Amino acid sequence: MSCLRFARLFLFWFGLLFCLSHSSVQAQITADWVFYGGKVLTANTDDPANFTVVQAVAIYDGKFVVVGTDQQALAVAGPNTRRVNLRARTVLPGLVHTHLHVHNQTPAHHLRDEIHPGMTDRGLRWTTKEEGLAKLRSMAQGKEPGGWIVVPVEGEGDLDEGDDLAGAPTLAELDQVFPDRPVSLVLADRFAIVNSRALNMMLERYPNGVPEIVRGPDGKPTGLLRNAAGRTIGEFYPALTPRRVAELAPYYKKELEEPAARGVTTLSTRMDQVSLRMYQYLAKTDDLPVRIAYGDQSGTFHPLSDAIYFGAPQLAGVGHPWLWNAGISPGPQDRGGPVGCTHKPYPENDSSFPQWRGHPFGPNGTCFMEEDPVSPILRGSILAAARHGFSLVGTHQTGDRTIDDYLEVLEEADRLYGGIADRRFSIDHCYYLSEEQAQRAARLGVSPSCQPPAPLNDAERTAFGAYRALYGLEVAGDVVVPFQRMVRLGMKPSIHCESHRGWDFACMQYAITRKDNKDGRVWGPQQRINRRQALYGYTRWAAWHTHQENKIGSIEVGKWGDLVVIDKDFLEIDEDQIAQINPLLTIAGGKVTYSEPNFASSVGLPSVGFRAPANWWNR
Ligand SMILES: [Zn+2]
Repeated sequence: MSCLRFARLFLFWFGLLFCLSHSSVQAQITADWVFYGGKVLTANTDDPANFTVVQAVAIYDGKFVVVGTDQQALAVAGPNTRRVNLRARTVLPGLVHTHLHVHNQTPAHHLRDEIHPGMTDRGLRWTTKEEGLAKLRSMAQGKEPGGWIVVPVEGEGDLDEGDDLAGAPTLAELDQVFPDRPVSLVLADRFAIVNSRALNMMLERYPNGVPEIVRGPDGKPTGLLRNAAGRTIGEFYPALTPRRVAELAPYYKKELEEPAARGVTTLSTRMDQVSLRMYQYLAKTDDLPVRIAYGDQSGTFHPLSDAIYFGAPQLAGVGHPWLWNAGISPGPQDRGGPVGCTHKPYPENDSSFPQWRGHPFGPNGTCFMEEDPVSPILRGSILAAARHGFSLVGTHQTGDRTIDDYLEVLEEADRLYGGIADRRFSIDHCYYLSEEQAQRAARLGVSPSCQPPAPLNDAERTAFGAYRALYGLEVAGDVVVPFQRMVRLGMKPSIHCESHRGWDFACMQYAITRKDNKDGRVWGPQQRINRRQALYGYTRWAAWHTHQENKIGSIEVGKWGDLVVIDKDFLEIDEDQIAQINPLLTIAGGKVTYSEPNFASSVGLPSVGFRAPANWWNR
């Protein structure tokens, strides 16, 4: 057959197939929703300067089937179609929030009087040793002999360190009270204080030990387990039963109503295994109000992360439409507030940062990437992730020095295993990114998820002020969340507003103006981006960060039907008013996940979702 004939034949069959599929779609569909008479910002082009604005969309079976004129959308409406006249209101793609730890917020907000998942008993307030031990004793009563006590403990002061717990018991003291059952007091950050029964279980499985089993001057374990050890002991706690998951999952659903009220239809977060079980249950029962892209924490500070990542391959972007893997989260890379590990020591007497007095996190913050025994584990897990095809997401690198350390490991991973540029390893928060670092990051295909330092009315107390104290005002303005730099280098920075009660439109405004409402100071005007770029930071570019850019992040035919109707004109409103935008209706996959009551009744829809007083949100 001649080439020409082949081509003709091919085109014929291809054309026939196309016509058939096209006409059958048109003929059969009766849309579930038609939104018309609006100003729909589709974010459908790679360049934010020229996306299409349309009047109407239709959604069928959770997906956009028409994006165009009122006439085109209404043509697929039938008797059961819900039609919403937008009356010239603006519609955005559902917001994609790339760093929000809803699972950590759930127990604090909804399970205060419940036994937290993975624990055996209700949380314990620790005041004195005697009282604490007495409470533990009474917990043991009625429990089967030899059974675990795993209890979250709260006390005064900063519990991150565990040993700061006033009157914390030692391993010997816990052994005295509980000679024949394993006990673990779980502190903040999953640090733990355990007795010998518990400790020995771990040492039997890991005869060579686990880093950060804290030892006293005599070389014997004190009972305190930090990072790696504090997490690894969790392997031995009683398993979460399916029944318990079913009981607790509704609370996890409840917490997700808050981001839905912010206009969020997808969020990304690192996630522990216990929480993941909750969201898996909700995904299976079709009960998630927000899609979740998660960073798997199973290898966090784990001595065997290479084995874990080898044994459980999870390709980023693969999973359930409401719950998919976005990479692995091997643990935070620095600590110290509000910036982490820095090249220059924190000044001890800066009036904005009394927390630096005495250098509680060390003069340069805590550098997990450099300090033994965490450093080899952390570097090892990043390399293991690269080796087994993972991406890294949802941890944070806040210090200027941490960024250098992190980029150095990524470069090493690229030399050893290749392909890093395609993986979208993330940098979270972007509190420091110099021109040189940003260029390295861009070469490595890094996906930045950036937090404009909140709140809008006191930048001095945030990373801006911290880097001002370290390197001066000029530098701080130029390196803290430098959106313009990242965009210029062809990166796709996403924007997030991490705090609970954070308001995403306020973070968008800050990315656009960089203006502190308190004193009017603009921090680094050269790093401002325009509102279209900020919109992409919360939609199209953020979708790329979650590895789901073919399904979310813009309003296009075939993509999942996620949108938010807002009460102001995003393209025309004064820049200083963007924080005052309110969602009126959030739709995810064709489900109403939030509706503002007045708007809902005006268009005949039910009033759905989270309710809060007007001053609830930080804006
Ligand atoms: Zn975080």
